[in-house]
Amino acid sequence: MDIRLLDLLVCPICKGSLQFDREAQELICPRDKLAYPVRDGIPLMLVDLARDMTLPAPSPEAPAAARACNADAAA
Ligand SMILES: [Zn+2]
Repeated sequence: MDIRLLDLLVCPICKGSLQFDREAQELICPRDKLAYPVRDGIPLMLVDLARDMTLPAPSPEAPAAARACNADAAA
């Protein structure tokens, strides 16, 4: 992603400046604890797509509810 673009990007919620996480390819709003995805170098500044950083990351140790959901899909 063009790093200069970062200067132009602000959080759509709080209008604050964002931090680019190069490894995760996410634009992070520290205030709202939201991470906006960057796909193919294009920042997707949509609240619907933003990841809530206060929630634990998904892990293979999924809760029982998630496994039940998968079972339903397979059936
Ligand atoms: Zn924000």
